[in-house]
Amino acid sequence: MWFLAIGLACLTATSVPLAAAEIKNIRTWPAPDHTRVVFDIDRPVEYALFVLRDPDRVVVDLRETKLLKRVPRVRPGDRLLVRIRAAQRTRAEKRARGGTRSDLRVVLDSKQRVRPKSFLLKPNSKYGHRLVVDVYPVDGGAGEKPARKRVAADDPKDRRKVVVAVDAGHGGEDPGAVTRSGIREKDVVLAIARALKRRIDRTPGMRAVLVRDGDYYVGLRRRTEIARRQGADLFVSIHADSFRDPRVSGSSVYVLSRRGASSEAARWLAQQENAADFVGGVSIDDKDGLLASVLVDLQQTATLSASAEAGGQVLKSLRRVARSRKRRIEQAGFLVLKSPDIPSILIETGFLTNPADAKRLSNPKHQEKVAQAILNGIVGYFERNPLAGTTFAAARRHTIARGETLSEIAVKYRVSVERLRAANRISGSVIRVGDVLRIPGRSDG
Ligand SMILES: [Zn+2]
Repeated sequence: MWFLAIGLACLTATSVPLAAAEIKNIRTWPAPDHTRVVFDIDRPVEYALFVLRDPDRVVVDLRETKLLKRVPRVRPGDRLLVRIRAAQRTRAEKRARGGTRSDLRVVLDSKQRVRPKSFLLKPNSKYGHRLVVDVYPVDGGAGEKPARKRVAADDPKDRRKVVVAVDAGHGGEDPGAVTRSGIREKDVVLAIARALKRRIDRTPGMRAVLVRDGDYYVGLRRRTEIARRQGADLFVSIHADSFRDPRVSGSSVYVLSRRGASSEAARWLAQQENAADFVGGVSIDDKDGLLASVLVDLQQTATLSASAEAGGQVLKSLRRVARSRKRRIEQAGFLVLKSPDIPSILIETGFLTNPADAKRLSNPKHQEKVAQAILNGIVGYFERNPLAGTTFAAARRHTIARGETLSEIAVKYRVSVERLRAANRISGSVIRVGDVLRIPGRSDG
């Protein structure tokens, strides 16, 4: 196994093809809970995706792209889309060769407020390059009454909870690491996972699902499937493995290596091609209204960099309860981290081969401490990368006045001091007059 120091890749659009891309066809696939719109394209395209309201619609801007066919009618029985429109938009471009560029705007008019996810797919035996846009209802159940007119645009009832999949490693016939005194990794990590779930569920705006909730084994791919089916926004796998050198101790956090990612992505896409439950894709609509554009070879970049950010927050937080082995997060090709669409981290809470670690990790008090530290890191990640439509996105700002304390501000906004700290990367209680604090959003449930 090999590790690399992580560098947060900055996604820049390079090597854009000069000739216009062509859309040969647009297909729609209405499902009970979402509608999939597939653009058959002759090459990867650069695109931006965003949502507009009044009326509700999803706008897909494709750079230097031509539409060869007429847009299709929405299929009968589509619960979300009303119709699809397209318009060619020409703009003059000063280039050495001169000429114009023609971009395509496709609008998906929807019956209600929706949340799109999008991703590019490479050719397989049946189809060529594709851009896939999955449109989900924001209110949950499609086919409900059309959304009522709302007085306030930011109604807390519209906000969804972020979902964290907590994965206790090993289980059943696979005990993981086992110490001479009989401490088993599968038990230690399940205890920490359960403690973490309790804490997540108590945190406003968050909900946890346990991938394994008992002493049984779950296959590695099945673990990521469970997370996906539960609509996880983050996948956290918890371990306490063995190491050949018993002197090695302390916690560490891993994310998927890019090399592991690219080969796996290829395998994944090939295999998942016809799988109806593949609701994956890098969601680019969550990035604070930023118009992201994604190139196909970097399909996983958003997920990888989100994983790195989440991992960084958790590692920083873990360092406060236990010495960590490395200052930085590490990269590895762990199978369980290979979801192309869900940011995923693997936490080694310590090494059972190290006697001091083993003693600490089997202590329920320390397990609770570790769980709290992981929670703080996760909250910090969502505070800093709020997903659209969640409580975390409804953050406010507060400028610190003379004489104010952190706990007073927390009381004022009815948030916990912990969340206030996490949202602003504050470790102690020292704050400075004039600093602007991010106030995390409150949830009503
Ligand atoms: Zn393990």
